Amino acid sequence: MRLSWRRSSRAEDRFESWITEQHQRRVLAGETTPSGPCPGEGFLRDLARKSKSIALSDPRIDHTANCRNCMSRLLELRGENRSHRQQIAFTAAIASCTLIAVSVVVFWYVIGRKTTPVNTAVVEETVNLSDAGTVRGEQPGQLQSVELPAKRVHLTIILPRFSFAGQYLVAVTRDQNGNGVVAEGVAPTSGSGTQQKIAVDLDLRSVKAGAYFLSTTHEQDQAAYYYPLQIK
Ligand SMILES: [Zn+2]
Repeated sequence: MRLSWRRSSRAEDRFESWITEQHQRRVLAGETTPSGPCPGEGFLRDLARKSKSIALSDPRIDHTANCRNCMSRLLELRGENRSHRQQIAFTAAIASCTLIAVSVVVFWYVIGRKTTPVNTAVVEETVNLSDAGTVRGEQPGQLQSVELPAKRVHLTIILPRFSFAGQYLVAVTRDQNGNGVVAEGVAPTSGSGTQQKIAVDLDLRSVKAGAYFLSTTHEQDQAAYYYPLQIK
């Protein structure tokens, strides 16, 4: 039902535009006789813009519809309007593309500023625990305090003397029970004799300044040693 109505409506549109074309052809060929004088250019411009200020009963409409000169001028003005509208649409499209491009550039600029080389740079830090006690259960207060910046740190830890060789888990925690891990890394020992050291990457950029603990846990020993850590 709906489909057939649509089809007939489209057919009516085609029929109407055909009539209009036939009429225009006759007018432009001078086969019609207009009544009254030609209206001014202003009126034709308003008509081309489909201005609502013009009443359909206006006799100048009837004249234009039948005058060869007025009709051809009206069609010209319509064409100009159409190309002007297309130009506006084109300009708007260019403007929005430019806006998107500018937004993208600004976005990358802002992101770029947030990750300046200063922030992504890895800071070399060394923590010397060689004199720190290795006796399990020793209180952190008795051990030396360690300070690290809130940056990406390549941390070399010189382990307490007589530490086991092997893999170590290094962690930065909120307390000395291993709770609230804010950063961690695993690394094997290097060194010889009684002196072992490990090097891990710790990303402390999002860590707030304050008091933490640096812990080292041997893969087999499993006992964690905590050292008071201050993050600046
Ligand atoms: Zn005329």
